[in-house]
Amino acid sequence: MSTIQWFPGHMHLTRKAIAERIKDIDVVIELLDARLPASSANPLLAELTGNRPTLKVLNKQDLADPARTPVWLDWYNAREGTRAIALDASERAPARRLADGCRQLAPNRRGMARPMRVLIVGVPNVGKSTLINTLSARREAKTGDEAGITKQEQRIVLEDDFYLWDTPGMLWPRIVVPESGERLAASGAIGRNAYDDEEVAMALLGYLKQHYGAQLDARFRLGLAPEALAALHDDELLERIARKRGAVMSGGRLNLQKAAELVLVDFRAGAIGPITLETPEDWRVWQAAADQREAERAERKSEQRKRDDRRARNRAQDEGG
Ligand code: GDP
Repeated sequence: MSTIQWFPGHMHLTRKAIAERIKDIDVVIELLDARLPASSANPLLAELTGNRPTLKVLNKQDLADPARTPVWLDWYNAREGTRAIALDASERAPARRLADGCRQLAPNRRGMARPMRVLIVGVPNVGKSTLINTLSARREAKTGDEAGITKQEQRIVLEDDFYLWDTPGMLWPRIVVPESGERLAASGAIGRNAYDDEEVAMALLGYLKQHYGAQLDARFRLGLAPEALAALHDDELLERIARKRGAVMSGGRLNLQKAAELVLVDFRAGAIGPITLETPEDWRVWQAAADQREAERAERKSEQRKRDDRRARNRAQDEGG
């Protein structure tokens, strides 16, 4: 699949704003999508925040696989300077748990003289505005399904000695692990113009047929045994879904674009079932492969530079002699 690249200009501004704010921050809350807990984590966060203690909030846990969420919480909780909790919008008073998590990470920040100062970050569409609305108990932050709505930095007073700064949703300039790009696109974190619906839907189906075959079969009434489903090519699977859902154009040709949209809408709404698109083991494998490719890329670049230098030297010699 082609690589998904999306870093709109305003996200550079967000990065700058975070860099400026971070010196007065004690704890960072990173909102993650519980369906893609590693893919939705900003790989540059530690660098961006100068290794501030971080509370990882696996949000939208209602949409995630309840068997996998605890595995991810353990994975994050095992890291130094990190705590992790799971959350979703049905929790009416999440402030307590968020505050407790932050206080564990920075126990010396208490009282008006030394208030807790927290920065909240996350990818677009992870549910940050919804959470901020609940926390501030004012229905003013704009929520929506489209990625990339900017807004000014805002401060929320959670408790008298507990301040929270919000930031606009942010991605990173280069997505090195292609599997995470597919997942971010499937989740709605990446603006629609930056990827191809059919490619993203097929990548999603490719994972679902292996790990959530029964739910996939039930949702689209495919009538296939798990082995038969797993053996289908991803494009055949999309074609079957198009047929089942009547995504057909005049002349009887299948409308795969339409079918892909249906799959993505269903996934985002949780209609296929509670699903998590990665495990720590998946992530380890993808990241190792990506690291290998990055190393090869660096090697190729360095070889190219050497060749260029050699050529320049030869040219200089020719001209000199
Ligand atoms: P933001 O871009 O991070 O500010 O995300 P929003 O708060 O605008 O939420 C994006 C979409 O996810 C909206 O349609 C919300 O209604 C939905 N949403 C937010 N939180 C949750 C949650 O915990 N569970 C589910 N199922 N949907 C949520």
